[in-house]
Amino acid sequence: MTHAAANDGFDALVIGAGVVGAAIAAALAARGLAVLVIERARQEGSGITSRNSGVIHSGLYYPPGSLKADTCLRGQALLYAWASARAVAHARIGKLVIARGPAELEALDALEANARASGVADLERLGPAAIARREPALPRAESALWCPNTGIVDPHGLTRSLRAAAEADGAIFAMGLEVTRLVADPRGGVTALSGDDELRAPIVVNAAGLDADRLAARVGVDRPIYPCRGDYFRLHGARGRYHHLIYPVRPRQSPGLGVHLTLELDGGVRLGPDAEYVDRRDDLSPPPASKLDRFHRAAEALLGPIPAIA
Ligand SMILES: Cc1cc2nc3c(=O)[nH]c(=O)nc-3n(C[C@H](O)[C@H](O)[C@H](O)COP(=O)(O)OP(=O)(O)OC[C@H]3O[C@@H](n4cnc5c(N)ncnc54)[C@H](O)[C@@H]3O)c2cc1C
Repeated sequence: MTHAAANDGFDALVIGAGVVGAAIAAALAARGLAVLVIERARQEGSGITSRNSGVIHSGLYYPPGSLKADTCLRGQALLYAWASARAVAHARIGKLVIARGPAELEALDALEANARASGVADLERLGPAAIARREPALPRAESALWCPNTGIVDPHGLTRSLRAAAEADGAIFAMGLEVTRLVADPRGGVTALSGDDELRAPIVVNAAGLDADRLAARVGVDRPIYPCRGDYFRLHGARGRYHHLIYPVRPRQSPGLGVHLTLELDGGVRLGPDAEYVDRRDDLSPPPASKLDRFHRAAEALLGPIPAIA
């Protein structure tokens, strides 16, 4: 990209073509804005967007009335509508949150009350027989919260579809370019520097994922990211054995939701992710073997005896 081309009348500059940047680019381009997206990778959606469970959440856990609770529910409806209209692979498979014994009932009650206060629709409380009908492979459980609208989506397909929509509305994706600095413009706005290019637009969107805070710090925004790592293990020999996403009641004091079972669109079964605050945000190494036992124990407490995990 040349210096001149980079400044050629763009209304908005979006840094990062993960699912967030691609969605913002699609929304801005649909409103008629001239959008330039800059992505340092060769392919869209290759950051955090390529490393998650693809769960379409229902917002059970957020404080009612909070921005997260409201946007999660609105986003869920928009996401199902988008995925259906654009043939993005997805499945509304539902989620069970299981109270394994009387001790967890109070926490499940509190979760249900929270979700209802947030406006989560179609929740149902199930007893042991109804749980067994939905998930015959589970050991007897006291009670469960059934959340039918939670689902799964293909994050790559979703991001591809958002990029395609943005491009159809004229957005340009400049791949393999890294924004190295943001500079506050004394006349207002922000200039992004990439190699020899100076990229200026009235709107600059920082959708740089795990690097968003470093870029923001360049223009005086001090909102550090505290990296949190999540590991998965694959449950072998379990295709077709489970039908829904299965979660325990959230463990107290845990940054995550507890070891849970997620299904993939191709029928694969995974356990995790857990959640662990770490120092390095770029450590994408496989999970340490020491975690295997912990996962196995937690999974068997939820699912009963399980096939091998790895
Ligand atoms: C283990 C785990 C499980 C998760 N599970 C779920 C789930 O089930 N459901 C759910 O909704 N969410 C889930 N999430 C969260 C979800 O994955 C993220 O919220 C989402 O992917 C963030 O997308 P993003 O576009 O902000 O970031 P990214 O996908 O990381 O995109 C940022 C992009 O910016 C680019 N970039 C960065 N710096 C620069 C630069 N200087 N110049 C140019 N380009 C740059 C990167 O290359 C990257 O492509 C999970 C997250 C984790 C870690």
